Amino acid sequence: MSRILLSLDIDGTIEVGDPPGVLTMEMIRTTVGKGFIVGSCSDRPLSTQRRIFLQHGITVEFAVSKHMLPEVMAQFHADHYVHVGDREDLDKRYALAAGFGFLWPEEAAEKAWFF
Ligand SMILES: [Mg+2]
Repeated sequence: MSRILLSLDIDGTIEVGDPPGVLTMEMIRTTVGKGFIVGSCSDRPLSTQRRIFLQHGITVEFAVSKHMLPEVMAQFHADHYVHVGDREDLDKRYALAAGFGFLWPEEAAEKAWFF
């Protein structure tokens, strides 16, 4: 079974972001239950990122800034590394530069991962 590492932007990507995004905390809990390595990658302070997820019962495996995705890849072994975010400049650009796959929130929400 292949292991997927999922890096999630917050604002514009998950339902508790500002603005809210299409990925719900329930969907994210489902990926954790499936054994995904789930972490947070946002411009918010790292401790705030962890708290946002923890408030919804999710302990993220990592909480990083956008430019730290290469460190995430070095730290965790996975078959697929995917970042989900809503900004071309801040999300897609950094994800691709780090060797991650990239999905817009609406694309990610279609994946069987979340159900
Ligand atoms: Mg965003």
